[in-house]
Amino acid sequence: MNYFPQSLQKVIEDISNLPGYGEKSAQRFATTLLKMPRGEAVDLVRNIAIMLDKIHPCVECGIYTEEEEICPICKSEERDKTYICVVEESFDAYTIEKTGKFTGVYHVLGGRLSPLEGVGPEKLNIKSLLERIKKYSAKEVLIATNPTVEGEATANYIHNLLKKYPVNITRLAYGLPFGSVLENADEFTLSKALEYRIKV
Ligand code: ZN
Repeated sequence: MNYFPQSLQKVIEDISNLPGYGEKSAQRFATTLLKMPRGEAVDLVRNIAIMLDKIHPCVECGIYTEEEEICPICKSEERDKTYICVVEESFDAYTIEKTGKFTGVYHVLGGRLSPLEGVGPEKLNIKSLLERIKKYSAKEVLIATNPTVEGEATANYIHNLLKKYPVNITRLAYGLPFGSVLENADEFTLSKALEYRIKV
């Protein structure tokens, strides 16, 4: 038996169908919206609609962009197209971009290998990565997937695929977060930090 008003029920259903959102978080979101000043809530919904209308993946690298077809990074003549950084999602690229240290271009996979969620290699932008490597005679591919079990599996899969290409394959270094103490590090981080230790 459902006691929710129909329109509220619809929103809760829609949100709880999203990956990572359950019924409870959907209810919390709906309640927050209903408690907000009406104008702010309407603005929020309108901004989502505008975002959906304007944002699309760059046809080259897959980063979400508002520009015409190709994103500003791919368009820039100052970026080295022979140096490709592979990330899971656009937000990972934005995060790396914030450092201002990366001079190449990105390639967004659009996810990570996840047998549990039914995500196999065919669902990721891997074919277009191989095409770009050939098209730009890439010199280096930096695999910057997340340091998680699924991110690792994805990185290993891509690493194996790229072995037959004349390209240097690099990975982001694993390490301990700056300012942290060893006793707080999890085993995975610490074992990776040992494995990828540097000569001083
Ligand atoms: Zn791009």
